[in-house]
Amino acid sequence: MSSSTNADEKKKESFNAEAASLLVNNLRATFASGTTRSYEWRASQLKALIKLCDAHEQQIIDALYSDLAKPPLETVAYEIAMFKNSCKAALKELKRWMTSEKVKTSIATFPSTAEIVSEPLGVVLVISAWNYPFLLSLEPVIGAIAAGNALVLKPSEIAPATSSLLAKLLGEYLDNSCIRVVEGAVDETSALLQQKWDKIFYTGNGRVGRIVMAAAAKHLTPVVLELGGKSPVVVDSNIDLKVATRRIIAGKWGCNNGQACVSPDYIITTKDYAPKLVDSLKAELEKFYGKNPLESKDLSRIVNSNHFGRLTKFLDDEKVSGKIVFGGEKDESKLRISPTILLDIPRNSLIMREEIFGPLLPIMTVDKLEESFDVINSGTKPLAAYLFTINNRLKEQFVMNISAGGLVVNDTALHLAVNTLPFGGVGESGVGAYHGKFSFDAFSHKKAVLYRSFLGDAPVRYPPYTNIKMRLLKALVGGGLLGIIRALFGLS
Ligand code: NAD
Repeated sequence: MSSSTNADEKKKESFNAEAASLLVNNLRATFASGTTRSYEWRASQLKALIKLCDAHEQQIIDALYSDLAKPPLETVAYEIAMFKNSCKAALKELKRWMTSEKVKTSIATFPSTAEIVSEPLGVVLVISAWNYPFLLSLEPVIGAIAAGNALVLKPSEIAPATSSLLAKLLGEYLDNSCIRVVEGAVDETSALLQQKWDKIFYTGNGRVGRIVMAAAAKHLTPVVLELGGKSPVVVDSNIDLKVATRRIIAGKWGCNNGQACVSPDYIITTKDYAPKLVDSLKAELEKFYGKNPLESKDLSRIVNSNHFGRLTKFLDDEKVSGKIVFGGEKDESKLRISPTILLDIPRNSLIMREEIFGPLLPIMTVDKLEESFDVINSGTKPLAAYLFTINNRLKEQFVMNISAGGLVVNDTALHLAVNTLPFGGVGESGVGAYHGKFSFDAFSHKKAVLYRSFLGDAPVRYPPYTNIKMRLLKALVGGGLLGIIRALFGLS
């Protein structure tokens, strides 16, 4: 056994359930001391995260390149800049988010005042995925910190360079008495999941999502599950085809080569329009990635050989192999698959049953575009759904009839850049949501507080119970002033 394997083994052994329990206990003690509750602590940690990005941009770019060959532009724009933007927005809004919200009271409690106080949940666990390993690790951390929690982050082992960079940088920049990173895979995550947390925020696939939820259920721990699904794109005719095509490409291959949770998974269009769409996609793809896309520096590679094998299996399916109308080139040694379009693949093929999460894009055709709604609704609820059209009625029908985590009309993926929109799934695409204030809320308990004085101690709720008291209480709980007057005069 080599010395590095020995070291790896040791590291692996050292983080077990006992170590996890110790870690959580320590964090609980710091949380109980009140450190994380102050505005100053929360703001200082968010500022430190921005500083971390500014000081280590190149290292972050390099780590993502090492893990995914992610093009630096994608890392800078979609991971670092988006994350910094979220931090800045949280800093700007933090005082307002932390301020308790006064709410109206009812006549039944008169005289009284009431407010909703956002309190931190305690010690929380964030488990993240490999595809946007920087953003998806740290974006939930913003919410956890802003809401005043202590936390453990478990980055994905499938993006090892980013995972170890995060462990190093968070160790250097953040308050380690309250914020810790645990690196590792299934064993380490299982050890963490055995502990009692006050919230678990998981990003990844639904199979593990179920494991997380089952572990959380043992302690009645609430969860946010940011999962995936098959996100459809419905394409009408009479659109600006060139713009639509470019936006589909940007959301698919321009987002980590299709390895993004909101990537278009498949297209539905009419039989008549499909050839035009295919021609347009071919032309724009060639403009963007050249004649040999396997060599393009503007496309991420497939993350590892397991995922390469998974994607290859989709293409090897005999129902699908003859349906490739563009691309299909592979280089296993470099883990590269070129942008690939498939036309008219059967709905029972493997590629139409599972989330693709890679550079393959099947196009399904229907006689009438309205049929696409039934196609989408016959599957599990997707994380995102997209529609390209100029038809206002179709837009309305789409918004009314399609249940998905989020919808975008005439673009793809961009909804996740809007901090005022919640980002999360529904049904099999997830539980809960985050981004902006929704992140703060995801990691807060909304505590109901009612204030009364010693005035107005009406005898009506105290025994002996009489008929007039019953009528009065009924009217009071009912809330209507008229009802109370009627009860007082014996009219009800
Ligand atoms: P992954 O393999 O990195 O797994 C995610 C996390 O689960 C990792 O931290 C991993 O260590 C942990 N894990 C894996 N197996 C486990 C087990 N048996 N027990 C406990 N923990 C375990 O990522 P992935 O699941 O391949 O990510 C891709 C999926 O995530 C896709 O379905 C995608 O759509 C979804 N996703 C969703 C979002 C979102 O924001 N909704 C974002 C990115 C990815």
